[in-house]
Amino acid sequence: MARILLTGGAGYIASHTAVALVERGHHVVLLDNFANSERDVPDRLRRLTGKLFPVIEADIRDVKAVTDAMQAFPVDGVIHFAALKAVGESEADPLLYYDMNIVGTIRLFEAMQQANVRRLVFSSSATVYGQPDHSPILEDAPTRVNNIYGRTKLVMEDLIRDLARTGKLLSAASLRYFNPVGAHPSAMIGETPSGVPNNLMPYITQVATGERPHLNVFGNDYDTPDGTGVRDYIHVMDLAHAHALAVEHIIAQDVSLTVNLGTGVGISVLELVHAFERATGRKIPLNIAPRRPGDVTSYYANPAMAEAILGWKAKLNVDDMCRDAWRWQAKRAGINDV
Ligand code: NAD
Ligand code: UDP
Repeated sequence: MARILLTGGAGYIASHTAVALVERGHHVVLLDNFANSERDVPDRLRRLTGKLFPVIEADIRDVKAVTDAMQAFPVDGVIHFAALKAVGESEADPLLYYDMNIVGTIRLFEAMQQANVRRLVFSSSATVYGQPDHSPILEDAPTRVNNIYGRTKLVMEDLIRDLARTGKLLSAASLRYFNPVGAHPSAMIGETPSGVPNNLMPYITQVATGERPHLNVFGNDYDTPDGTGVRDYIHVMDLAHAHALAVEHIIAQDVSLTVNLGTGVGISVLELVHAFERATGRKIPLNIAPRRPGDVTSYYANPAMAEAILGWKAKLNVDDMCRDAWRWQAKRAGINDV
């Protein structure tokens, strides 16, 4: 049983990870500045799990506040989720992204050193592969980022490797997520994009509630079986479970790893829409729109390393993802017949 601090602990993936950690008997401390999360998330987590979560409201760039938090709640390791994550915004405001993501991570690591916390799990992203030469993608595929958000992830991965190599971190796991979707089946926690969603699944669910008239399909002339972009969607509960296994691994052993977290299944935009319609009985009107600049055609993971090292494999399928994403969005929209 370990005590783990989650930076960005009230966010989408962290809140689900908190549930997975508690279910495996661990203690969880949440640290967040609530820049992109709702303040009642810790309370919802308490109702969902029956456990109290210490909450520290702080910015990861505030070394003193984060050090104090880790001294008040001595932890065995940190899972570092806190970051800005919008690709378009990163291109519009590079300094903001370098500051929040890279400077923020350096400040967090300073606090960890001061508090002598030396085990880390880090939220990386499959975006570091850019457009890969082929899928499924293995972890040793070349990295080639084409936006500033992706570059911040690569820089942070390198920083973590250097800290592990030089013994400043005893162990670290960089987890390269593919496309997280869905929500806890209780519909008590989920994803809350602000404004118009950038990502496909939240957009689909908002069309289904009637908040948006149709889904714009960004390009149907890609070199894929139905012409639309292919991604590896992964249920956030599967992803959360992987974090619990990763944290147990890096606490048990002084080894570091960089690992893909995906299902290994590529799904096109139209396939996801059809799966959603099947799983929910809701029709999604479509509008074929131009390609979105910067989009890659297709990518999906080879998740074998995660299975070999962590004993983890995604269990939930696309129908589960659609059903749970819909339950969450429908509840927020006050639709009860789901
Ligand atoms: P999210 O925005 O829901 O969660 C991030 C949390 O961090 C939010 O609660 C936010 O308030 C907090 N935060 C941001 N900056 C902070 C700061 N300076 N100090 C303290 N707290 C801060 O995002 P998410 O989707 O849960 O993503 C979590 C991590 O996973 C991020 O690092 C993201 O880059 C990475 N990731 C996400 C996806 C995805 O599609 N959601 C894919 C790959 C990687
Ligand atoms: N997409 C789309 N309409 C939308 C949002 C996304 O057609 O409103 C497509 C997008 O072009 C890509 C896929 O859905 O092919 C996944 O996009 P998302 O932004 O969710 O993930 P990412 O591109 O970051 O992997």
